[in-house]
Amino acid sequence: MKTVIEPFRIKVVEPIRMTSPAERKKLLAAAGYNLFQVDAENVIIDLLTDSGTAAMSDSQWSGIMRGDESYAGARSYYRFRDKVQEITGFRHVIPTHQGRAAERILFGLLAEKGKVIPSNTHFDTTRANIEIQGARAVDCLVPEGTDPRALHPFKGNIDLEQLERVIREAGAENVPLCMLTVTNNSCGGQPVSMDNIRRTKRLLKRFSVPLFLDACRFAENAFFIKKREPGFEKKSCLQIARQMFSYADGCTMSAKKDALVNIGGFLAMNDDELAVQARNVLIVTEGFPTYGGLAGRDLEAIACGLEEVLHEDYLAYRIRTAEYMGDKLDAAGVPFVKPPGGHAIYLDAGSFASHIPAEQFPGQALACALYLEGGIRSCEIGSVMFGKQAPPPMELVRLAFPRRVYTQSHFDYVIEVILEVFKNAKKLRGMKLAYEAPTLRHFTARFAYL
Ligand SMILES: *Cc1c(COP(=O)(O)O)cnc(C)c1O
Repeated sequence: MKTVIEPFRIKVVEPIRMTSPAERKKLLAAAGYNLFQVDAENVIIDLLTDSGTAAMSDSQWSGIMRGDESYAGARSYYRFRDKVQEITGFRHVIPTHQGRAAERILFGLLAEKGKVIPSNTHFDTTRANIEIQGARAVDCLVPEGTDPRALHPFKGNIDLEQLERVIREAGAENVPLCMLTVTNNSCGGQPVSMDNIRRTKRLLKRFSVPLFLDACRFAENAFFIKKREPGFEKKSCLQIARQMFSYADGCTMSAKKDALVNIGGFLAMNDDELAVQARNVLIVTEGFPTYGGLAGRDLEAIACGLEEVLHEDYLAYRIRTAEYMGDKLDAAGVPFVKPPGGHAIYLDAGSFASHIPAEQFPGQALACALYLEGGIRSCEIGSVMFGKQAPPPMELVRLAFPRRVYTQSHFDYVIEVILEVFKNAKKLRGMKLAYEAPTLRHFTARFAYL
């Protein structure tokens, strides 16, 4: 097989500022050993997140010039709406400034004390928007989903028996909707199969509970279905995406992921009554229903991005990126969550630095080492992020891939840095907290080496 090349040429470049190891040592100490506190210009390869970090195409940038900034009924809104409808088939399309704004509107209308909202795994903003309304967010992930070595093709699936139990226990009248996150971000960007979506719908129908997709990475999920699920080999990713959405009654979407833009989102649904209510909230908190907190040019860029994200060459390159890195790490024996998901590689810091106990933050130690060794910014997803509530099941370090931003040689460099740190893994030192905020401590915490 030949190299899967980046299916684009580079027309504009943004220089990367190089830093020396000595410089990074000072910068990291000044940041309290917290990578959220390091300025972006001091990072060589930034893999903190794949959200809002995509490179836009020439046609998206032309779309920015074509944006219609009329307050009401702008041409750009109709382009955006038509593209979303072409893919999802939903009757009502409501633009919002981010995914979480769509969540806030939806759960503001449907969630309240006494209600239970199940999902394969709720993303953190989704969970927060449910809990802030007093409702309960319940994850019903299949057991393979939390085993870093289980080579299941669809580790993001919802556990249907558990889902049925949750609905029966709560009473169907207390379950206003069920969410399915595609791909399942919080369990490693793992896909959900078409069969699982179809069965979820069938189960929910028996209880008259609507199904909503958290569709941030719908295109990556569609590509996994094409590659891994029998019967979909010959279907286009657009056809597969349409079928995924055909089982749902609505969706929330952060356009900062699979719409290939830097800001934006939407809420879509078939329920006429609910849509009227959602638009009424939108007008108070986001903006008029034909722009919803976005500029006309943003809507234009989203319409264009949703077209481009379903190109098979793009998706083949996108999914190959994580797979390529996974192959190289696997050959060297580096522990990570397998198989790689769509948008990131998750290093298994608990095994990588097995001499560091969870309370000494092995993930934080590894993330700091990757920065010191190569100026790479990653994100700890382990005891720093979650340990305050309960010990998390895994100590992970996420390397998330911005879309169309880095080339294969950038990834080769990242692999070299990881292998160098892995060679010296026994020298990694545990850390302790020097400061922590009362909530969401990972953003502002300061650390010291033990
Ligand atoms: C990013 C994300 C969100 C929230 O979207 P924002 O645009 O960041 O508000 C919701 N769900 C999933 C799965 C996400 O990845």
